[in-house]
Amino acid sequence: MKAMVLESLADVRTNPTPLRLFSFPEPTLTEGEVLLRVTRCGVCHTELDEIEGRTPPPRLPVVLGHQVVGVIEEGENKELRVGVAWIASACGKCQHCLAGNENLCAEFKATGRDINGGYAEYMKVRADFVHPIPDSISDSEAAPLLCAGAVGYRALKLCNLQDGQSLGLMGFGGSNHLVLKTAKHKYPNSQIFVFTRNAQEREFALSLGAVWAGAINETPPQMLNALIDTTPVWGPISEALKVLSPGGRLVINAIRKEEVDKEVLLNLDYPSQLWMEKEIKSVANVTRQDVREFLQLTAEANIKPEYQEYELEDANQALVEMKQGKIRGAKVLRI
Ligand SMILES: [Zn+2]
Ligand SMILES: [Zn+2]
Repeated sequence: MKAMVLESLADVRTNPTPLRLFSFPEPTLTEGEVLLRVTRCGVCHTELDEIEGRTPPPRLPVVLGHQVVGVIEEGENKELRVGVAWIASACGKCQHCLAGNENLCAEFKATGRDINGGYAEYMKVRADFVHPIPDSISDSEAAPLLCAGAVGYRALKLCNLQDGQSLGLMGFGGSNHLVLKTAKHKYPNSQIFVFTRNAQEREFALSLGAVWAGAINETPPQMLNALIDTTPVWGPISEALKVLSPGGRLVINAIRKEEVDKEVLLNLDYPSQLWMEKEIKSVANVTRQDVREFLQLTAEANIKPEYQEYELEDANQALVEMKQGKIRGAKVLRI
């Protein structure tokens, strides 16, 4: 089978071909696994972080790709069309797993990191970690839902929002634009406020139904019950805490934060930014239940991501364009 393989870490700016095309035998299954014939795999920003060493993979060489869509060719539920998300395995027995938070399990394994992912013609995965794709969602539409979409959905759940309460979104990329669509469906009486430094994204947010869109440091017309931050820096956290209502919650949906503007934290004003039972919570990846609920909800609400397709062999090009910020919708590999 063909696969695009990462053999060593690289800076995509100076090495625009970090992945190499290899051909090797299809994986052999062990008890409880299924073999997936991959049809599509989404390209995620986290993969740039992996390739460039900011969140290095635990082993090399590795086949990246954690938004995998395919058909089961061997094992349980043969011929079923399924998706595989970031979560590839958890112990099922620890306190977190038993409480439904298997994303916090110490034995958590990730697709495209701990096991080979979907930048390949075939992948194997535990049979209980695949998710049926609703008929109304195409393979290409499903792929971006499996990471940016599902993690955004978890972030929204962690907001503890009640219908009618206000929601703020800091940053408006792949994840938060799906959160906006999901929130409008789940909380039809809630008003949504979007903060982004990019004027085009502000217009896009308003066209999708945000009641207000402004720059990160602009003051919205009202205080907000919950906010989701997807930016890679600290400034937006400080700004979010200023506009968070008493008892409100800020949810940080980011795998890492850069060091550049960390000093803003030293200037936090306790009375206006933290007092009054304001909460800060981060999101750590997804559970299987999040993925399944989200796929169901997107089918019900007819939520479709925008995407652009590339051939598997052109995975490097997709990554370079992502690095250059040439993002119009999600990037999906066709396999
Ligand atoms: Zn991802
Ligand atoms: Zn566990």
